[in-house]
Amino acid sequence: DTGLEKTKANLFSKFTKAIAGKSTVDDEVLDDLEEVLVTSDVGVTTTLKIIDRIQTRVARDKYVSTSELNTILRDEIQHLLAENNSNDFQNFEYGNHKPYVIMVVGVNGVGKTTTIGKLAHQLKQAGNKVVLGAADTFRAAAVDQIQLWGDRVGVRVVAQAMGSDPASVAYDTLRSAVANQEDVAIIDTAGRLHNKVGLMNELTKIKSVMQKVIPGAPHEILLVLDASTGQNAIEQCKQFTEATAVNALALTKLDGTAKGGVVIGISDQFKIPVKYIGVGESMNDLQLFDRKAFVDSLFK
Ligand code: GDP
Repeated sequence: DTGLEKTKANLFSKFTKAIAGKSTVDDEVLDDLEEVLVTSDVGVTTTLKIIDRIQTRVARDKYVSTSELNTILRDEIQHLLAENNSNDFQNFEYGNHKPYVIMVVGVNGVGKTTTIGKLAHQLKQAGNKVVLGAADTFRAAAVDQIQLWGDRVGVRVVAQAMGSDPASVAYDTLRSAVANQEDVAIIDTAGRLHNKVGLMNELTKIKSVMQKVIPGAPHEILLVLDASTGQNAIEQCKQFTEATAVNALALTKLDGTAKGGVVIGISDQFKIPVKYIGVGESMNDLQLFDRKAFVDSLFK
């Protein structure tokens, strides 16, 4: 069980239909394949790029059988996805930063809190001392939820009263992480997107306060996106990358959706590695993204 069954079923059945009764890859098969990819939320630009590469290959080799198409498609998609160096939490890469600071951004409802909780759990299981900073002080529920996850997975949470300054929570979190010699600090932030300048200013302020404690922090700016929203996730990615220097993505709720193709489109379009995928609601349902495993699970 990879958590990607729905996407696989969707892609695979459409793909099988597209090549049914055909022995060679011709223009009609490529047209059908294009439709399969677009309707699986890969996105038009990325789909055209994939089709174009396959077309070039067909032109070069003169004859490509439909039975080879599966492998070719797998190769092409894998080629578009960024490689992650570490694909299990035991070899998580911290780049010699201690504490390694992760600032988590994303709109409400995408699974930001859950992802933070799962990540804390996985990193703790891998032997790290982890601290959480509840800097989404805008929603009372956000602080409570982080606290709940902290209790559940047994990690320390730094919080202040609702409505307090998020930058001050981030500052407290990093100061105490240094004092306690913690390995990883994960800081939640408010997910308001109604005003890009406001968002940009808030994130910039949090970052500059972090840098007062730890130059170079945050080491990871992690944008959480809900894969089941398909093209909306792409739009959010656009907004957040314009507001701050996102360098890692988490795509959640892949277990409940057939729109997993969005992982391919986002990764290609924004050139930001998908680092984590969420495949369920429990604390173990977070994986470090492995492009080969991902493509294999969709096309095998
Ligand atoms: P936030 O508002 O972004 O902090 O979102 P939450 O973390 O509270 O998550 C919103 C809902 O999505 C909750 O019911 C979570 O259990 C659920 N959720 C989060 N990640 C996943 C996932 O990977 N798979 C599934 N099936 N549900 C998820």
